[in-house]
Amino acid sequence: MKPPARLMTGPAVLADGARSRLEAAAVERHPRGLLAVDRLAFRVELGLLVFIVVTLPWEFTKLWFPTPLLEVSRLGTLAALGILTVHALNGTLRVPRTRLLLAIGAVVGLHVVSFALTRTTNGLRDTAAIAVYACLAIFVAHVVADRRRVLTVVTALGMAALIVALIVVAQEVGNFYLWQAEGNAILGRRNATFGDPNVASRFLAIALVACLALLAAPSTPRHLRIGTLIVAAVVAIADVLTLSRVGWVLAALVVAVWVPLARSRRWLGTGLAVVVVSFSVYLAAAPSTLQRAQAATADAIARTGIGEPGEEVEPPAVTPPDLRHPPPGCRFSPRCGFAMPVCSEVVPPEVRYDDGVRVACHLFPPGVDGAVRVSTEPPP
Ligand code: SF4
Repeated sequence: MKPPARLMTGPAVLADGARSRLEAAAVERHPRGLLAVDRLAFRVELGLLVFIVVTLPWEFTKLWFPTPLLEVSRLGTLAALGILTVHALNGTLRVPRTRLLLAIGAVVGLHVVSFALTRTTNGLRDTAAIAVYACLAIFVAHVVADRRRVLTVVTALGMAALIVALIVVAQEVGNFYLWQAEGNAILGRRNATFGDPNVASRFLAIALVACLALLAAPSTPRHLRIGTLIVAAVVAIADVLTLSRVGWVLAALVVAVWVPLARSRRWLGTGLAVVVVSFSVYLAAAPSTLQRAQAATADAIARTGIGEPGEEVEPPAVTPPDLRHPPPGCRFSPRCGFAMPVCSEVVPPEVRYDDGVRVACHLFPPGVDGAVRVSTEPPP
């Protein structure tokens, strides 16, 4: 039977109430119109993805669960995996982007080969995590089936970044922490909703990508572009306050990658200028920012036991281990100044403290000072 005329062109399908290609495909499956259950499913899936994106930076919620493997956004990820499985079983999974699948397969394959060669201590757990994130990427590809949904998800990422950046600024003004990590209070490093300021800085760099993409897209509404410029400025200032020099370099790379497109896209050029000026002016204006960033690196070195803050550090006179044939027991035992006989025989169990800090070292055994065992490796 010849399908109704309204199904033969995109705009006609839109007139039928379907607002995306994904919904249009469902209309095709049900020629009398989009079923209410389909509409609900589309909205639930998009809503779930927005929830995952918005809660992605809420790393401090690890402290709410009995295992550090869980946090709020990961609950959403588990729900997404369930939906993905149902679609795969029903044959309704829509992942048309072959190149995306190839990229995901390459990342997973690289990790599996790396694990097979190195057999790292938490390799199995890390491999499982990579597999889960690969499935999440497929879920994203399934849900963001058209520009409208891409815009929705990228806007959600921008909102999440704005919240993180505002918390960073509030931390600087009010000098408080949601998740106190060692050394942060002394050096004044701001971590927002993350444990490690370096991770916060990396998230802000990803947020910059989202902001610049929104500014570069021709279909972004004007009011959203103006809002994005404000978010980009706050994100750039927050990035300075993390005192993460790795994060700063990452942000610089993000800006550099977008520069070639800026000549033909005025809003993008404005966005790049806003990011560079906000970052540079705040870096120059904030008292001793550079010195504190330098101190953060010295502090990290000092906590390894090979130097004091401000002290000139000589590299240890040892050869790095062969990653294909790592030493037995603790991987650091041949070059660790605190190594004991047990270190070269037994892999140290990983423990977690109340403040979220995790350690794998025989000097910090489970059951001492509140350390709780979290390692999946066999007990020593
Ligand atoms: S277990 Fe701890 S003390 Fe032993 S070698 Fe490893 S890092 Fe050093």
